[in-house]
Amino acid sequence: MHGRPRVAVLIPAAGMGTRLGEAQPKAFVEVGGVTLLERSVAAARESGVVDEIVVAVPESLADSAHRLVPDARIVVGGAQRSDSVRAALAASDAALILVHDAARALTPPSLFADVVAELCDGAPAVVPGTPVADTLKRVDSTSGVVDTVDRDMLRAIQTPQGFAADVLRAAHAGSGDATDDAGLVEAAGVAVKVIPGDAMAFKVTTPFDLRLARLLA
Ligand code: C5P
Repeated sequence: MHGRPRVAVLIPAAGMGTRLGEAQPKAFVEVGGVTLLERSVAAARESGVVDEIVVAVPESLADSAHRLVPDARIVVGGAQRSDSVRAALAASDAALILVHDAARALTPPSLFADVVAELCDGAPAVVPGTPVADTLKRVDSTSGVVDTVDRDMLRAIQTPQGFAADVLRAAHAGSGDATDDAGLVEAAGVAVKVIPGDAMAFKVTTPFDLRLARLLA
């Protein structure tokens, strides 16, 4: 891996997965006998472009995480996703940082390589995204339709999201929270580039998503 900067993948896996309704936190739910956490770590490894993996987990599951993914560094996550990312970020000094949801467990390894390639071309922030299939409408608090949004100009954004480390560190310097890291980077005024995502990078959020993942795995 000569000639390119060191790449770390941070994997926030400290969510409780309340919407999934399983007994254990989401990253520790199994698909085809393998936890979402193990699948996500394996995909990052198999990409061949990652030098270091840092995983943020709930404190009570740090020991099991060590057993499941012995080649990853384990840190204790926080109350919000951004807190978990900040904890993982503190454990890495890589020049390029990818952040990848443990819940996107079927993400193809090639997507990690695509993101790293764009970063190596000089983009400070890169996110995978897919066109939106449904018609999207903005509603008010009583579910009345306000208007229809032009979906041609919208993308559903996935992970892994990649950043020059200084850009991500600056964005996370405050205590801000966002549903993704690019949200914080955008708010800091940095240009974020969208590259083609992959349907297999869907996030396991609901019981339906878990059924889908089990069928696909
Ligand atoms: O809840 P959501 O599906 O948006 O979480 C996305 C990812 O962030 C999951 O992999 C989850 O484990 C992680 N997360 C975390 N710490 C939290 C909340 C979510 O690491 N406090």
